[in-house]
Amino acid sequence: MSKFKSGFVSVIGQPNVGKSTLMNSLVGEKIAIISNKPQTTRNKIQAILTDETSQIIFIDTPGIHAPKSKLGEYMVKSAESSMRDVDMILYLVNPVEKISPADEGILKKLANTRSPIILVINKIDTVDKEKILRIIDIYKQRIDFFDFVPVSALNGDNTGELLKVIREKLPEGPQYFPADMITDQPERQLVAELVREKALYFLQDEVPHGIAVEVMSMKKRPDKDMFDLEVTIYCEKDSHKGMIIGKNGDMLKKIGQAARLDIERFLGSKMFLQLWVKVKKDWRDSSFLLNSFGYK
Ligand code: GDP
Ligand code: MG
Repeated sequence: MSKFKSGFVSVIGQPNVGKSTLMNSLVGEKIAIISNKPQTTRNKIQAILTDETSQIIFIDTPGIHAPKSKLGEYMVKSAESSMRDVDMILYLVNPVEKISPADEGILKKLANTRSPIILVINKIDTVDKEKILRIIDIYKQRIDFFDFVPVSALNGDNTGELLKVIREKLPEGPQYFPADMITDQPERQLVAELVREKALYFLQDEVPHGIAVEVMSMKKRPDKDMFDLEVTIYCEKDSHKGMIIGKNGDMLKKIGQAARLDIERFLGSKMFLQLWVKVKKDWRDSSFLLNSFGYK
């Protein structure tokens, strides 16, 4: 019997090349925030794909670009650090025959990495086959690639082949994460933390630490850069519930408004936030907190 294989696979490429789309397509669930605005993905997001013989842990990175701000600097750093210490790199490029300045920069950095690199030519639904071959030729002359896989992340073309190539090259290793865990969902975690922070801020000492926050759902509206968020605030007593909601719902409105603004700022998309308050006396012992950290 062959041994179990596993590894960390970094997904890199310039903004808007389709990294988040590819990850979502491979893992089969919406995990990273996708938009047609560059740099929506501000965190490394791990998507995890487990089957009987392997576990692939994808690291989604913000696009590599010239930093213009503190946040930009942070993003470049996290993208660069994710090129080291990984078992494999998926380098996504657009199906164009000219290497962009951004890609020149990436190629320079890739020249110093030891990890095997797969060149993924994305958006092949927009070009013909001959062009793809010419693009492969251009990149081939620059650095060593382990393999070349043209895909369309958008419609799933050839993504199965990409998985095959990744699994082939994956080293033997343990199953790092539970099989049913698909992501560490930092966005949900962030949303929960921001709502909790605002609630504690506005409630001050009235409901000391007796609250927990769970993100019930986070869905992107089709064709719109907007998310519908349903979030529940749990408290331990009926009297607390009254305080959290406030007179005419004023307190909950305040919490929701402040949280929404922060969430939008951090995640770069518009949010429609619905807040619920529930009494759950034993929430501290409950497993739902684990849910909000991505365990199913
Ligand atoms: P990221 O910045 O690299 O994470 O890019 P995204 O995944 O957010 O995608 C940026 C844009 O490219 C979105 O509008 C996607 O719908 C689009 N896109 C991604 N993959 C493909 C593809 O294979 N074909 C086409 N036509 N568009 C794609
Ligand atoms: Mg992205």
